[in-house]
Amino acid sequence: MRCPYCQNQNSRVVDTTHDARGGVRRRRECEDCKQRFSTYERPILAIPLIIKQDGTREEFDRDKLLRGIRISCAKRPVSAADIERLVGEIEATLQTLGRAEVSSRVVGDMVITGLKELDQIAYIRYAIVYLGLDDLKALRNEIDRLLEA
Ligand SMILES: [Zn+2]
Repeated sequence: MRCPYCQNQNSRVVDTTHDARGGVRRRRECEDCKQRFSTYERPILAIPLIIKQDGTREEFDRDKLLRGIRISCAKRPVSAADIERLVGEIEATLQTLGRAEVSSRVVGDMVITGLKELDQIAYIRYAIVYLGLDDLKALRNEIDRLLEA
């Protein structure tokens, strides 16, 4: 690890701590300038491939997911931070599944669940596309279900 002060390559580890998320923090001392600095190492978890409804696979696309949710939330009182947090939670959940691939439904269900809590109109908009609520009756059933809950 290169010293951030003098760029020397050699440093000595003076302390090591492990955190609950599997990361390792090391306190280091530069062997040349004697300045101390910390490094943090954590395992990088892979995100599973997404199996689309037609059976093809694609890489998880965070931006695409973000766009889809933003469109559903247009002109609704949902903050950018809330949308960002929802996407972050979905991403983190996918990582912890520890699977090579998951159905796009798994992602869709997480969006649906998250939007339901954030804003019901945004939820209905997303559901129309995602659940394929293509007639008024299906839409009304879904709204009735929401009103009962
Ligand atoms: Zn140094």
